[in-house]
Parts: sequence; C-alpha cells; structure tokens
Amino acid sequence: MGRKRELVDVLNKWAYEYYVLDNPTVSDKEYDALYDELKRLEEESGEAYADSPTRRVGGDPIKGFEKHTHIARLFSLDKSVTKEELQAFLTRVEKTAGKETAYTVEYKFDGLTVCLTYDKGAFVRATTRGNGTVGEDVTAQVLTIKSFPLKISYQGLLEVRGEAVIRLSVLDEYNKTAAEPLKNARNAAAGAIRNLDPKITASRRPEIYFYDINYLSEGAELSQTQAHDFLVKEGFKVFPYFKVCQTGEEVLAAIDEIESERRKIDVLTDGAVIKVDDAALREEMGFTDKFPRWAMAYKFEAEEVTTLLKEVVWQVGRTGKLTPLALLEPVELGGATVSRATLNNYGDIIRKDVKLGSRVLVRRSNEVIPEILGATEHTQNSREVEKPTLCPACGCTLEEVGAHLFCPNRACLPRVVARLDHYASKNAMNIDGFSESTAQLLVEKKGVQNFSDLYRLTAEDFADLEGFKDKKIGNLLTAIERSKAPALDAFLFAIGVAGIGRVAAKDLAVRFKSVENLKAATFDELIGMENIGEITANAILEYFKDESNLLELAALESVGVRPVWSEEKKEGVFSGESVVLTGSLSGYKRSEAQKLIEARGGVCQSSVTTKTTLVIAGEEAGSKLDKAKKLGIKIIDEERFKQMLEE
Ligand SMILES: [Zn+2]
Repeated sequence: MGRKRELVDVLNKWAYEYYVLDNPTVSDKEYDALYDELKRLEEESGEAYADSPTRRVGGDPIKGFEKHTHIARLFSLDKSVTKEELQAFLTRVEKTAGKETAYTVEYKFDGLTVCLTYDKGAFVRATTRGNGTVGEDVTAQVLTIKSFPLKISYQGLLEVRGEAVIRLSVLDEYNKTAAEPLKNARNAAAGAIRNLDPKITASRRPEIYFYDINYLSEGAELSQTQAHDFLVKEGFKVFPYFKVCQTGEEVLAAIDEIESERRKIDVLTDGAVIKVDDAALREEMGFTDKFPRWAMAYKFEAEEVTTLLKEVVWQVGRTGKLTPLALLEPVELGGATVSRATLNNYGDIIRKDVKLGSRVLVRRSNEVIPEILGATEHTQNSREVEKPTLCPACGCTLEEVGAHLFCPNRACLPRVVARLDHYASKNAMNIDGFSESTAQLLVEKKGVQNFSDLYRLTAEDFADLEGFKDKKIGNLLTAIERSKAPALDAFLFAIGVAGIGRVAAKDLAVRFKSVENLKAATFDELIGMENIGEITANAILEYFKDESNLLELAALESVGVRPVWSEEKKEGVFSGESVVLTGSLSGYKRSEAQKLIEARGGVCQSSVTTKTTLVIAGEEAGSKLDKAKKLGIKIIDEERFKQMLEE
C-alpha cells in the first residue's frame, strides 16, 4: 500500500473520530503534520485519491448554483401542533396496522435540508432540498463540512438526507469575532451553505446531522431503525438522540422528554419527528400528494406572541449605523418576559408594516433579543414609525446607504463609546477590565475620543470617576500599557476597518506583515487574496486614504503602540524572490501556486513592478509578461516552476 493511500486512510479515520463521533484521538498538530505530508505527495505526483481529505478545502467561489433534480422526491412532513393531532396520527397508524406498532422519535432541527448522492461507493454531489423535486447543487460548499464520508462501502446509487446546522456554541464563538454578526442559527446555517464562496461556508463551521435515506438502488426498503444503523455504519454523523418506541404512549412520553430537554442541546430545534418504523407498514400506508402518511412532525408550541408596540428608539452603533429597537408592552414568551425586540432597519419596518400603537408578532428564537415578524393589527391610534433625519445622539443629518441610516459624525458619542469598547475587547486589544461603561465614563467625563487617548491617561484621570479605586485604576493602567504590543491581526481588527473581522484581519496580517505594507497595498493585491472581495478591498483603501485615520495611526505609534507580526520564517527555493504569476498554469490553480511559492519563502505580487524578481509565465500570458521582458526580469515557464518546487 502506497504512503498516500495510508495517509488518506489515517487522516479520514481521525477526521471521523473528530467530526462524526465528537471524540478526537489526536492533536491538531499531529493531524496537520500528516495532512501536510499528504498534500506534498499529491502535489508532487499531481494525483489525489477521490476520498482524500485535501478535497475538503473550500475551492474558488462559484458563479451561481446549478439546478439539480433529485433521484427521488424529498417529501416534507405533515405537522401536528397539538397532542390531540399527534394522537390522531397514532390512532390512524394503529388502525392500519391492526395492532400496536413501533415508532422512532428524533429531534427536528431547524437548519437547511441537504441531500447527498453516492454512486459506486463514492460521494458524488450535495444538493439543497429546494422544492423537493429540484434543488441546488451545493457540492463545493458541503465538501468543506467534515461530518460525512467521501467513500462508503455501499456500492449502489444512494441518496441520504440530513440537516445542515450551526451549533449554537459555534455561532456564539463566530459572532464574537465577526465583522458582521449573524442573527440566528437557522439563517446562519442556510446562509453558510447557500453561499457562493465555499471559504465562507467553511469559516462558519456548519455540520450535518443525517437522518434518512432518500433513495437506495439495491436491496429491500429499510425500516427507520435499519436506515439509522446504515447511516451510522457508513460513517455519517447522526444526532445521539434516536428513540425507538413500542407504543403510542411511549411516543407521547418521548415528546415530553424532548420538549423539556431541547433547551439544553447545542442545536436549534423546533420539534420532533415521529416515524413508523416498519418498512412494510410504511408501504401499506403510502403517501398523500404532499406527505408520507407514516410520519409526522410535532412542532413545539410556537414561541411567538403578539403584543403592543409602544415605541421605537434608534441606537447608534460603532460604524454609525442606526438600529431601531422596539419597546413593547411586556409579554410572556417562552418562559421569559419580553419588553424589547429588534427591527433590522427602516426598510424592515416598512416591509413588516410595523406601526407605533399596533399589535406586532414577536418571535423568540435562541437569540438574545427577540425579533418582530410583522404587524397583526392596526388600531385607530396607530402611527407610522418616523424615519429619523437627524441623529438622536448628536443631531447630525443622517445619511442613507441602502436600507440603512448612518450618522456620519465620527465624534458622535455612542459611536465613540462603541469604538473604544470594541478596541479594548478580548479579541481585539484585550485590555482587561475595560468595559463599555468605562468607555462611557471616559468619553463623557474626560473627553476621550481616540484610541491613542487611552495611552495618555494617568491615575489622576480616574481618581474622580465613580467606581474607581486605587487597585482597579492600577490594574486598568497596567492592562492598557500591556496592550502596546498587540499581534498585528488583533490590531487590524481593533481599529475597526469596515468589513474586517478577525479572520480577514489574520489573512491581511499573514499577507502584508505590517500596517505600513497594508497601507501601501493596491486594489489588485487586495482582491488577489482568497478571502477579500471588492467591497472589503475598497473599504481598506478608503480607510488608509482618510486623513483622520492616518493621524490616529501616527498618534498610536507615537504613544508606543507597535503591532507585531511573527510567524515562522519560511525558507526555501523562492526566498528573497518577489514573484508574479501570469497566464494560466495547467497543473496548479493560481491560489495553490501562490501558497506553494509562499511556503518556500517567496512573496507573491499581483502586478509586475521594478521590485519583481521573477515572473512565472503560463499559457496565454499577456501584458504582464511584456512588461517583465521590458524590465529585464527573470522569466520561467511552468515546467521550470515545477522543477523548482521539487528542489
Ligand atoms: Zn450621531
């Protein structure tokens, strides 16, 4: 057995233990070492096994989703919302069966349904459910998820069905460092899978819980228990809760159990699914034109309620964006009293026909603040929500960008407070003990405006602030002092360039290595990066064009803030070379070639300049090649490039 095959098998086993069983047996480091070895061997040979874990890396963004017709229709389920309706279903089943029969009970997850196709033991494609008959091809996106096998033992044609979800803890974690936090787990899962850029799918870390077989070309129809066992045996991730009930009474008990346990699990769920287990009985019961007659979704009491909308207040955030916050007549919802809810923006208010003094439908999901779904009833006293024209905090004239309103005043108090709070936060400069209320006090009482002002504060400045004692002041000043040597990526996140979350900040740090280099970056260099799109690239250029930002960066430097970037220095055949790729290479994608060059000490540039030392010219190289010739820069072809990689 070749080394490559061996590596693929070991890595797949480890990934299975980690992602499917949630039970890792090796460290990331051990995994990465073998993964890198496999990647190298694959690059050298130019061949990879179909089930190689290197396939799971998100590829380039796609242009659009192709439509795909499912082999067998993906039925949706009939729904019950009361125990009586569920009991009626159980009675119908028993009548057909002529006796008590077994059921399975599972959680019903609130994410995005996906369908995976396998043929001759190999993964072929992943699609969304769509309308049940035709879905969208999301293979590139789903490939980045590791909770399913690329190779299975079953050799026939197979379609399995699962729910793509983002765990609530993962969503929390993501939102802590995201430039734009995601509102709820359901939208987050759908948004991650139905994203044209597989890299974004990967960054949101969705998972899939598999629960059904949609089509099986060979062998007899399976019972639900057999289908579940089949999924487990073939290496698909299933949710740990899978209950077989022998009677209708046991089903009702299982539903109660799920209803009380569901808040404790890490996945968003909106009900339970009850299925007749026996395959023969299922066949006998058949389908309506919409649903199988042998299954039922039990939806928990909707966590929705109507109440009166008293007022809408506008809150100004860090970027100046105004968010409307609805103040409600307090109401009980899912065991909590709710008096505030979010409306996303002015456009949202209009679309949902929400008016002051009207009754509105409020939904609680697993989010901190509930959401208003729409108005249910207007009264004589209903009034339109006024679209503000002036900032409620500073009185400046607001600007409208798309559906959003912005306060353009950088010195607007809530903006300054939010900016400082963000700057000091854990994933940014990590200034321990600095809270939003600290920021508020400093801005209001001490005239603090800029990040650099923090470093000029003395113990005296705090002495007359409420709640600050000697020890606390000392700790805070030490924490501020300590923040002077941040990692470059933390710094780039902290200063709040529009659209730069912690992940993009890291990519920029890796690529540019200093604030100075990033400041000098061109549009082409920025969009040449895998994860930076045009909007973000422009935001970065804007940021560094802005006079006040440049002054602030200089001020930070003068008070001693020095971002550092250290990574293992890569040495190799391209050390000291500034490389430009032009034309198309037959054996490598551009991003791959760049990584290979960088891993061997080279620096990649997007355009030929006097600093360029080497040009790699593929097929149909154009103006860059001409320019390189004019400048007398060393030019090599793909063949030579390949040789250099092997050196
Ligand atoms: Zn303002």
